[in-house]
Amino acid sequence: MLEIRNLVFGYDRQNPVLKGVDLELEEGKVGILMGRNGAGKTTLFKIITGVLKPDAGKILFDGRDLLQMSRRERAGIVAYVPQQIDFGALTVYQTVLAGRVSYYNIRPSKADLEVVENVLAEMDLQDVSCRNVQELSGGERQKVAIARALAQQPRVLVFDEPTGNLDIANELLIINEAKKIAHKRGITVFSSIHDLNQAMYFGDRFFFMKDGRIRCSGGPEVFEENIVRDIYGVFAKIVENDGEKFIHYYKGDKQ
Ligand code: ADP
Repeated sequence: MLEIRNLVFGYDRQNPVLKGVDLELEEGKVGILMGRNGAGKTTLFKIITGVLKPDAGKILFDGRDLLQMSRRERAGIVAYVPQQIDFGALTVYQTVLAGRVSYYNIRPSKADLEVVENVLAEMDLQDVSCRNVQELSGGERQKVAIARALAQQPRVLVFDEPTGNLDIANELLIINEAKKIAHKRGITVFSSIHDLNQAMYFGDRFFFMKDGRIRCSGGPEVFEENIVRDIYGVFAKIVENDGEKFIHYYKGDKQ
């Protein structure tokens, strides 16, 4: 279980961005963080992944405080999948091996190479393992980014807008990969995503951020017209079809 307790952070002391964030996400679930631009989603992810240090609060994984851990220990728990990696001129294999760097000192061990090979097989990347990452399609590159994070053997994968630059086919590919990783391997996935319909399809738990806090959270039932209006200031209509919910949103009071 990932638990965030009363997390406070400001880039400067006068203007806190996070004013006491609390949330809980169970193991093997996909949690989706939503909110307007500037709500603090990336800031929260940067704190979870150790890029920023909070002013107050705790982040616990299975009761252990991530903020008290060494970099190496923490890398075995949380891995980050950025929207875009500046890959450099590396092969897929070398890129995924870079995910092991917190485990070895100078040279990777046989066990490190085995982890990389297993991840490549699992992500169906074996056939492209010798290709330069820069030559791959956007969807394949994103899969390599996930594979690199998985090579870290984390318990939590954090994604910041994983589908932002992808076409709809690749969007689905990446969302389905991430769901599979969570549900089959029991890895907790915590991701931001803008599109509310995509969020509903992707997630198990949903967290809406506003004014530096989690304004509301829960299962799919949290998608309500008044909540969308409160968080985003837009009108929404929720339609159910074959037991599945869809949200239409629009700026005025007419569709
Ligand atoms: P989101 O990911 O929800 O769009 P961010 O976490 O990027 O939001 O930003 C939250 C707030 O923090 C915004 O007001 C943004 O301008 C501010 N902010 C983000 N990064 C920095 C930074 N490096 N220095 C100062 N302010 C920042």
